[in-house]
Formats: sequence, C-alpha cells, structure tokens
Amino acid sequence: MTHTPDCQLIDTHARRANYLRISITDRCNLRCRYCAPTKPPSLESDELLTLKEIHRLVRIGAGLGISKIRFTGGEPLCRKGLDDLISRVRRTSAIVDISVTTNGTLLSDQAAALKRAGLRRINFSLDTLDSDKFRELTGADRFQSVWRGIMAAAEMGFDPVKINAVVMKGFNDDELEALAGLSRDYPFHVRFIEYMPIGTAPRAARRRFLPIAQIRERLNRLGTLLPIARSAVDGPARRFRYEGAPGEIGLIGSMSSHFCGSCNRLRLTADGHLRPCLLSDEQIDVKAPMRTGASDMVLASLFVRTLQRKKEAHRMSFSGDRKLQTKMVSIGG
Ligand code: SAM
Repeated sequence: MTHTPDCQLIDTHARRANYLRISITDRCNLRCRYCAPTKPPSLESDELLTLKEIHRLVRIGAGLGISKIRFTGGEPLCRKGLDDLISRVRRTSAIVDISVTTNGTLLSDQAAALKRAGLRRINFSLDTLDSDKFRELTGADRFQSVWRGIMAAAEMGFDPVKINAVVMKGFNDDELEALAGLSRDYPFHVRFIEYMPIGTAPRAARRRFLPIAQIRERLNRLGTLLPIARSAVDGPARRFRYEGAPGEIGLIGSMSSHFCGSCNRLRLTADGHLRPCLLSDEQIDVKAPMRTGASDMVLASLFVRTLQRKKEAHRMSFSGDRKLQTKMVSIGG
C-alpha cells in the first residue's frame, strides 16, 4: 500500500485520527494495584500479534493518515524486539513521531538500543518518589531502577523525558509538590493525570479521585504556574511552567474535563483488536482476518470501520457501576 497524504481517518464527528497507540504485550513486571490484575497475564504467545503483524498494521495505518505511534502495554520493554520494531516503523514513510510509555524498570539496560533504533522520546510512569510506597503500589521493590532509567534517558538525550503520575487521593496526593518540584530541578515534563475508573468499579474508584482543578490549585501554591501556549502537536495536557524552571508541568483531566472533542487516537490491543476509545469496550478484530489472508485494503477498511464507531465522548463516570471488561494492560494506557 502506498502512502496517501490525505487523512482517510475522519470520524462521524469530524475528528481526524492520526495517532495509533499500540499495546505490544499484556505482560508487565509490575502489579500496580489500580491497573494490573493480580493473576499472571493470560495471553498465550500465539494470541499476541507478532512484531511483523504490528508493523504491517502500522504501514496500513500510515497509508490512511496515521503519523504518530506510541508503543505501550503491559510493559513494552518486557517484549523482546521492541528496538527492531521501532527501527522498522521509523523507516515507514509518513510516521513522523514514535514514542514509548514505560514503567522504566528495564530502561537503563535498553536505552542505548532504543536510541540506536531511532526512539527520541519516552514517557515514564511514576506515581511516587517514596520507595516504600512504590513497593506497596507496584508489588516490587524497584523504585531505584526506575529512577536509574529516568536518569539514563536524560543523560542519553531523550527529549522530552515525560514523567506521568496518576494522582490518588490518600495515597500520593501528599507528593504533588515533590513530584512537581522535579520540573524545577530537571528538564522533565511532569504530568499529573486524573485517576480513571478502569481497573476497579467506578464507585470504588471515586474514593481515590482528585479532580485536576484541585491539583492545579495545590500546585499554584508552590509558585505561579505560567501557561505555555498550545502548539498544534500538543496532546491532551494543559501545559505550564514554574518561572525559571527547566521542565514543565502538564495537567490531564481525563474525567473532569475530558478531551474527547479533540481526540485523535485509535488503539491496537496486544491481542490484535482495533479500538476507537480507551474508555469503551468497543473493538474490531484485525488479527483473525490478517491470519486468514485479508488484503491490505480489507485491513484498511477495518481501521475506517473502527473509527466510525468512535463516540462523540466517552461515557465512563464515577456514578454508575459500568466497568471496562478489557484490562488496561491489554489495551495499553
Ligand atoms: N507499563 C507501561 C507504564 O507503566 O507506563 C505502559 C502501560 S500502563 C497501563 C500506561 C499508563 O496507564 C500508566 O501511566 C498508568 O499509570 C496508566 N493507568 C493505568 N490505570 C490507570 C487508571 N485507572 N487511571 C489513570 N491512569 C491509569
């Protein structure tokens, strides 16, 4: 399939999808309480898309107007061959931006290979700077290896280094100032993300929820948050900077001030389904058709069909008991 410059991925609400987030594995070496199931992952290796299949779908998506790719999981660095996949995707015309979301535990060992493969930026997930709390949250005593990974990324020139923290009332909201302070000490983009009712029933999750407006108010007490003008390539974060700080603060209110109106994303799950939205169970199987000989054109039509199912806005809330059937580790956050 040759690349067509026009985006053919326009949904029924006139939004253009140019961003594909790909979960390359449902395996994760952490067991974050709010995310991962406590049982071991369930996908067998033949249920997972192969790296070759993922690359084929990227190529097809690129032909339709996808230009940004994020690899996530599970923990994407747990899957062998990520560097090879990145270097292939990098050579795919029309793909101009590749990023990875990682818990960082395995990064320091893989940073050089990922850099050589062409990765330029990384998002780390880190909800606490306290190693005891880290162990309590994730089930693993690995705070130091995450920190080493973040430092390795900074030293090797990955830019930007983003640190994403999910704010949980009564667990890490006492660390807002310490986490935000990282943006004053390092050129990091520290992003605060509202807790979403995904791994748990919405009513149970409500207890932990802290709205982004309250987070902003707290951070403002630390120093004035100076807004950074939005650019065309910005994601959902509202961006700020403390005066003189080398880094940035980002605020992402997925629940209280959702950004569905400007959502440009499609998702590919580890087991080969395209999804129009993180917060919906709607999905279309692309793996089965691919494995029974579907042409690029047929697979391209499945991208278009997935996008047609994208709702105007997600319907997830803390008021009902509606719970996502699919696990976050398989969809990819
Ligand atoms: N293992 C990688 C990592 O840790 O970044 C990638 C996968 S993880 C599912 C991606 C992101 O989803 C993480 O930043 C995690 O904090 C976020 N996440 C998981 N469950 C969430 C929830 N209920 N609310 C908000 N963010 C969540």
